[in-house]
Amino acid sequence: MTRKTPITVAYGDGIGPEIMKATLSILHAAGAQLEIETIEIGENQYLKGNTSGIDPAAWDSLRRTKVFLKAPITTPQGGGYKSLNVTARKTLGLYANVRPTIAYAPFVKTKQPGMDVVIIRENEEDLYAGIEYQQTVDVIQCLKLISRPGSERIVRYAFQYAKLNNRKKVTCFSKDNIMKMTDGLFHSVFNEIGEEYPDIEKDHYIVDIGAAKLADAPERFDVIVTENLYGDIISDVAAQVAGSVGLAGSSNIGAHYAMFEAIHGSAPYMAGKDVANPSGLFLGSIMMLQHIGQIDAAERAHNAWLKTIEDGIHTKDIYTEANSKKLVGTREFAEAVIARLGQKPTTLHPVSYNKDAEKHDHSAVYIRPKVKRELIGIDVFVHYNGDPETLAEQLQFCEVGSLKLQTISSRGTSVWPTRHEETLLCDSSQCRFESISPVHLKDILHLLSKMEEKEIEFTKTEQLYLFDGKAAYSKSQGE
Ligand code: NAD
Repeated sequence: MTRKTPITVAYGDGIGPEIMKATLSILHAAGAQLEIETIEIGENQYLKGNTSGIDPAAWDSLRRTKVFLKAPITTPQGGGYKSLNVTARKTLGLYANVRPTIAYAPFVKTKQPGMDVVIIRENEEDLYAGIEYQQTVDVIQCLKLISRPGSERIVRYAFQYAKLNNRKKVTCFSKDNIMKMTDGLFHSVFNEIGEEYPDIEKDHYIVDIGAAKLADAPERFDVIVTENLYGDIISDVAAQVAGSVGLAGSSNIGAHYAMFEAIHGSAPYMAGKDVANPSGLFLGSIMMLQHIGQIDAAERAHNAWLKTIEDGIHTKDIYTEANSKKLVGTREFAEAVIARLGQKPTTLHPVSYNKDAEKHDHSAVYIRPKVKRELIGIDVFVHYNGDPETLAEQLQFCEVGSLKLQTISSRGTSVWPTRHEETLLCDSSQCRFESISPVHLKDILHLLSKMEEKEIEFTKTEQLYLFDGKAAYSKSQGE
């Protein structure tokens, strides 16, 4: 008999407890060997004053088992509460979010019968780093951070996933026509790592047209790798187009830990009514069984689930007169799956899992490229309400040596020396001082102290660098 694998389970909020109970009942009946440790997360914990929604002692269980099956939770309304999902992903280093999206035509109504796409979303960086500042009354900023090592490991994960799961193509979605540096880095890392996988087809789409094609012609895609925000949005769109958000599970994978869940939330208004579809969490738990090497149980449970869907035994979210035979609640659905253990679907493809498909190698060593970095100037963000010409005159008094005022921009658009009347002025101006040759930090400090003497209030600065002689900062629109 397989030894029991310890896992940590959280029943969550809203529909969480019902769908978790249903899921675990199927796993046990299918022969999964699990030693379950239960932790409390979510609303109760938030209301007890744990702002990240988890009892600090629960981390001990997660550190011990390293495998987390998590039901959705309710995040209370109002400020001060941190998203538990983001906390768990970051604390446990779960850098890859894997979201398979499959249509179950003709048994579940779908806009795209041919949908069979796996979205691999970077899980820790991008706008989800959660770094935001209010600069002035008018302007609030959210930092988008994309790192080379972060991009390398998610792109490598996607190519490895494709190889291990017999997928033929990996497509990168980015917006590097606009964000030439951040998204440009992600795209170029995709091209670089892609060369290590000559047998896999590669492709790139700008995310907006890519998302449109994904909704319209998903058969163009196989595995998609993308940044955090784009991945979050397109995977919900893909799941809904395929049939229902209630049908999608996901895994969050890191080098040492893994978390499995449904992609949907806690649907509080459905809670306690025995109507929720447990399939999203169940399919997440199948990914967990693969991850811990219990592939026989994964296959048995998954094939019985496919047979149940094929037999038209459907919960309310996917029930239609035309496609379904019997409307069931959460519990009855789980019982129907259990009754079909040992059976396989006849029209839908039965699953057959490969023991090696989870053998991801997280050990690639990051080699930082050697580059020459030179300081060439500074952008000083100034709190100012008035005419850019007047501000420019004052700033020119603050110039130091070769550090000259080049431009003033408002929200990234030039308002000095060139300005279109239509450009909206607000109370934050980005004032760029650049030199024709490298400068020292002390020149910058001198410049800032002159501004201080002139009572020009700066709210933030960004250094301007050359990397190997090339400007490593964006120009403003109209510059
Ligand atoms: P939701 O996903 O809970 O519900 C959105 C829609 O999907 C609803 O119309 C609901 O009827 C349907 N739905 C969701 N799960 C279903 C299921 N299993 N079966 C049938 N239908 C289902 O999103 P929401 O209403 O925006 O959020 C509710 C709460 O969930 C919020 O507190 C939110 O913060 C939280 N949330 C948690 C997670 C998570 O824990 N991973 C993810 C998203 C949202």
